[in-house]
Amino acid sequence: EAITVQELANRMAERGGEVVKTLMKMGVMATITQSIDADTAELVVEEFGHRSKRVSAQDVEIGLRGSADDDALLRPRAPVVTVMGHVDHGKTSLLDALRKTDVAAHEAGGITQHIGAYQIEVPSGDKITFLDTPGHAAFSEMRSRGANVTDIVILVVAADDGIMAQTIEAINHAKAAGVPIIVAINKIDVPGANPNKVKQALLQHELVPEDMGGDVICVEVSAKTRQGLDNLLDILLLQAELLELKANPERNAEGTVVESKLEQGRGAVATVLVQRGTLKVGDIFVAGAESGRVRALLNDRGERVESAGPSVPVEVLGLSGTPEAGDDLVVVEDEARAREIASFRADKKKTATMATQGRGTLEQMLSAIREGEAKTMPLIVKADVHGSLEAILGALEKMATEEVRPEILHSAVGGINESDVTLARASGAMILAFNVRANAQARDLAKRDGVDIRYYSIIYELIDEMRKALGGLLAPEQ
Ligand code: GDP
Repeated sequence: EAITVQELANRMAERGGEVVKTLMKMGVMATITQSIDADTAELVVEEFGHRSKRVSAQDVEIGLRGSADDDALLRPRAPVVTVMGHVDHGKTSLLDALRKTDVAAHEAGGITQHIGAYQIEVPSGDKITFLDTPGHAAFSEMRSRGANVTDIVILVVAADDGIMAQTIEAINHAKAAGVPIIVAINKIDVPGANPNKVKQALLQHELVPEDMGGDVICVEVSAKTRQGLDNLLDILLLQAELLELKANPERNAEGTVVESKLEQGRGAVATVLVQRGTLKVGDIFVAGAESGRVRALLNDRGERVESAGPSVPVEVLGLSGTPEAGDDLVVVEDEARAREIASFRADKKKTATMATQGRGTLEQMLSAIREGEAKTMPLIVKADVHGSLEAILGALEKMATEEVRPEILHSAVGGINESDVTLARASGAMILAFNVRANAQARDLAKRDGVDIRYYSIIYELIDEMRKALGGLLAPEQ
């Protein structure tokens, strides 16, 4: 194992130049970007009067996140809501309209900032947090990085347009994540709007509205006239109550990065949604492969705050660089530990991008099933025409056995897009393409994340290959 001089300096919290000098004294000529072997590194560490310990990336992560909290320490927290739906059905308008219902904002007269999430307070004093980057690609991208931040999904369906391709995608993303869905039937102010038709159509996607004997709540709203917004908020709070969302605010903060950017004058800025504990100015943290000390916290009105508790989104200043959406942020005891973890993660990321470490490849899926981790084979099926799609789905369904069954997370007519790949990645699924191709974005993403896309032009071949794959699992182990 080797380590770069810079890396070693970082982990010791010493200057790179000093390490180079020490190496020179030892007769080793190395620049700051060069690597030295572990034995040499150990000598350098001793030279600086530190104690060395060789650890793996896994070791470094141990104990990073605190253990589960005692029930007695848990306090209710605001629900975190994501808005999804077809383009132009009013996601952005609804998010803007809901934001204007905030009672606290009126008092403070503050100017709203778009930081990727905001929190509102309703007249009763209850709070709701919204992630305001609508879209299911972002939702599943975060989930694929291990971040399940959303408690409730609002599915926006325009009453004058009904259920469209991206509505179905959104439904399947939410279902795969196991997040409850509330349907907001929007644009009811438009002449010719037909909420009942929307409800009827929902049935085809296994969402049964309450007034049709099911458990899916539908709310009729207009983001334009603001009709029904209070009702929607009431229902969100009711749903939140059922979910019994709680967190311990009295501990070191742990959260998820929602957004991050590099800004002139402010440096790296990340919006973080705190999930447990309280994040405070001065805290030392690791965020993805970055680390830092909280220099300032700003709320969604651009005001400086001293701390942020569970479900509160804040902008964090004081990062070493920009982490990615979906990365964790965890407060640690000291800078050395923060740097150590961040640099290990950066190393890991480098090697991971060199060799694709996919989750959605057939081989990995099969080995997970063999090892008893999975009883289902998650699949996404895209085809050129309805007839073929139906035939494929029908055949796949028949392949189910007691040991393993294909699970269709999403199926649709059309080419493979970014949404398909993020869903596949987040759920460890494979994509079957029948007479369709992936667009450039989807191809790149699949390559990056190692998602398996299999192309077919003959139904029989697709079915045969899947049957063999599933059949192989059932064969006695050698
Ligand atoms: P998004 O693509 O889902 O974010 O949709 P937008 O929020 O951008 O809305 C698309 C269009 O529909 C815009 O022109 C909005 O003004 C309009 N719109 C959104 N909500 C309503 C509504 O409740 N009633 C009417 N009449 N128009 C709406």
